[in-house]
Amino acid sequence: CGIAGYVGDRESADVLVDALSKLEYRGYDSAGIAVFDHGNIKVKKCKGRLANLVEKMDEEGKPQGHVGIGHTRWATHGEPSDINSHPHGNKRVTIVHNGIIENYKKLKDFLIGEGYSFASETDTEVAAKLLDYYYDGDPMKTIAKVLSEIKGSYALGIMFRDFPDEIFAVRKDSPLIVGVGEHENFIASDVPAIIHYTRDYYLLDQNEIAVIKKDSVKIYDVHGNEIHKELNTADWDV
Ligand code: GLU
Repeated sequence: CGIAGYVGDRESADVLVDALSKLEYRGYDSAGIAVFDHGNIKVKKCKGRLANLVEKMDEEGKPQGHVGIGHTRWATHGEPSDINSHPHGNKRVTIVHNGIIENYKKLKDFLIGEGYSFASETDTEVAAKLLDYYYDGDPMKTIAKVLSEIKGSYALGIMFRDFPDEIFAVRKDSPLIVGVGEHENFIASDVPAIIHYTRDYYLLDQNEIAVIKKDSVKIYDVHGNEIHKELNTADWDV
């Protein structure tokens, strides 16, 4: 399973598929991407190999745009299927997730009571809809609120429709790094996903929230205080 994310000048669908292909060694049963395409979040996803996703995009059209997130899924909640594949969410907030939201059942019942409906059987869709529920125009506050409610393990890549030039990332007990390039930045589960684009990266610590734009990476704690971290450089050969 794996996560990738991109903000820059390249066609993000291509970068995401390429980065995810470098994470295939981690195993997966489905794949998908979400891209800001003319201001809207466009999702393509399906069961099977990355090659199936590429074929689907060849047939149906590839989302066009420079900001996006991608995912390879190792199903834990809900069988491998097109609908259970990531990304999950709605027009306003869309996420990819590795890990398990342990208290998803309780949160799902709560959200159903608040009028939400669910397309998939995944724990992930619950986190996506909870972000939508708490969204008040401030992504950082919304994410921090959701982190205080969810239990379990997660690496999350998040897109908010109102912020089409950036992606957000957070992790706990699942790996996630932030790759730092020139006029382009990345998220990924592991360094090999991005090493052909950049060797510089930040390791995210537990519950640090990264805000990734084309020309900046900022990392905050859950209280909104900026954290200045050491930039790592991968010096090994690939
Ligand atoms: N628990 C989530 C699901 O089953 C994420 C699985 C993963 O880590 O890929 O959809």
